[in-house]
Amino acid sequence: TKALEIEGLRKTYAGGVEALKGIDLTVEQGDFYALLGPNGAGKSTTIGIISSLVNKSAGKVKVFGYDLDSQLELAKSQIGLVPQEFNFNQFEKVQQIVVNQAGLYGVERAEAKVRAERYLRQLDLWEKRDQPARTLSGGMKRRLMIARALMHQPRLLILDEPTAGVDIEIRRAMWDFLKEINGQGITIILTTHYLEEAEMLCRHIGIIDKGRLVENTTMKGLLGKLN
Ligand code: ADP
Ligand code: ADP
Repeated sequence: TKALEIEGLRKTYAGGVEALKGIDLTVEQGDFYALLGPNGAGKSTTIGIISSLVNKSAGKVKVFGYDLDSQLELAKSQIGLVPQEFNFNQFEKVQQIVVNQAGLYGVERAEAKVRAERYLRQLDLWEKRDQPARTLSGGMKRRLMIARALMHQPRLLILDEPTAGVDIEIRRAMWDFLKEINGQGITIILTTHYLEEAEMLCRHIGIIDKGRLVENTTMKGLLGKLN
């Protein structure tokens, strides 16, 4: 099975904007895949559909073989999503946020606490565990969302512009962490504006422009073309 199979994906928003005009895309298990493209190209819409936050207008999407139309819950349980906007309760404590997330997926509380400690330590947030999320810096909030997304141990981690507005030192630490968990077998898909980020991290790259996938290649292949 593939981590992700997309066929003929289309999205027309209520206002009539054709955000996706027929996307075909396959991502192998264990891959690290970057979706690049200018603002408004359709990147967020694509990952919104994969993670079932946005309804598609047409097409097929399978996550580890589970069809989004007929096996939604199974498909969803494979995915951890790190959205662009901070969407946690700012008044909740860091540890509470990640432990509660695991609860949503039926993870036992004792196990959830073990995982919370592991991920919060790895993402350098353990010392902040009893702080309300609103007291964290932007980079810490982003790491909190990564920890939260991992709590049900998804096989596919999807990140929307994970390092936007994060300073270079923290960005490097996040890259190292993502490489590490990818090395442990988690498939990763991220959107980014930074070609450098894709170059540092990704094996495959797709370029979306005006709702179409205009390039789908290996990072090496792309760099070869640019040079
Ligand atoms: P859907 O087709 O998914 O129901 P809607 O058109 O109803 O989408 O809009 C959903 C939300 O997105 C609304 O809160 C709206 O304010 C916001 N929105 C509308 N247009 C845009 C846009 N061009 N870019 C980003 N967000 C938008
Ligand atoms: P990207 O993530 O590449 O910047 P998006 O997927 O956010 O692109 O947007 C693709 C197109 O769909 C843009 O024209 C955007 O304005 C439009 N769009 C995005 N979200 C909505 C929405 N909720 N309602 C209406 N139009 C939207």
